[in-house]
Amino acid sequence: SEQTHIKLNDGREIPQVGLGVFKVPDEDAAAAVRTALEAGYRHVDTAAVYKNERGVGEGLRAAGVPRDEVFVTTKLWNESQGFDATLRAFDESLEKLGLDAVDLYLIHWPSPARGLFVDTWKAFRRLHEEGRAQSIGVSNFTAEHIDQIVAETGITPVLNQIELHPRFQQRALREAMDQRGVVTESWSPLGQGGDMLKDPVLARIAEKHGKTAAQVVIRWHVDNELVVIPKSVTPSRIAENIDVFGFRLDDEDLAAIGGLDAADGRIGPDPMTAKF
Ligand code: NAD
Repeated sequence: SEQTHIKLNDGREIPQVGLGVFKVPDEDAAAAVRTALEAGYRHVDTAAVYKNERGVGEGLRAAGVPRDEVFVTTKLWNESQGFDATLRAFDESLEKLGLDAVDLYLIHWPSPARGLFVDTWKAFRRLHEEGRAQSIGVSNFTAEHIDQIVAETGITPVLNQIELHPRFQQRALREAMDQRGVVTESWSPLGQGGDMLKDPVLARIAEKHGKTAAQVVIRWHVDNELVVIPKSVTPSRIAENIDVFGFRLDDEDLAAIGGLDAADGRIGPDPMTAKF
């Protein structure tokens, strides 16, 4: 069964399931990326701050999949915000990845206290015009942050990558993104592999479909038209996490998972108060 894609507002498409590599050491990244590509992944999500762009690039080359068949995302770290610093940081990321262009470049956090995300977005516009960042987007932005960059540049980000999993479903922000034509992408989609995956609701649905709780959660993201980037370095889990296209959740399953949303479900930093 075929992998699905989501259409972006710039006319391009992104494979709905990708490999996340946060906390994967540079020396392990090549093997994880190669394993993922061999398991059928065509999308990898890294960031300058993960310090594994070199390993990711190595893995891409080792797998031997044609460059135009793999969707590669990286992100600008907060300390590199600002027009000139962004252009320099982008060159460094490309050099480490060993690529001429990335498919998607994201502003990692708005870092509102710096007051630089509009200038940063103007540099992103330049990189997009040059064709070196084929699509441009943001991460951890509120609707207000997005309205600000659109007002100042006329360019709408293709997507917003935010913390999103069954315990933190972000319904209001997703609705705001839909209204603006911005795709929502889920980070920490498995709740970082913590207690959430042991929830009895997920266990019951998993048993019903003969799948694992992780597969049920990834399928839930897919059924909600989200882009999803589960992380693993374990070959069997890497394969398991993309083997979600042979089944569908029914309305009862979706309603039950909908009920797991929790007011205190956030695991990571709140973008408005993050100290970086
Ligand atoms: P995740 O929700 O993907 O959880 C990963 C963990 O879940 C693994 O380390 C492992 O312990 C467990 N796991 C993975 N597959 C499993 C399986 N099949 N069965 C059981 N357990 C399994 O967490 P994450 O790494 O935080 O998020 C995924 C990706 O999102 C990151 O790698 C990164 O690319 C991105 N991310 C982005 C931001 C951002 O600010 N933009 C922040 C965090 C993460």
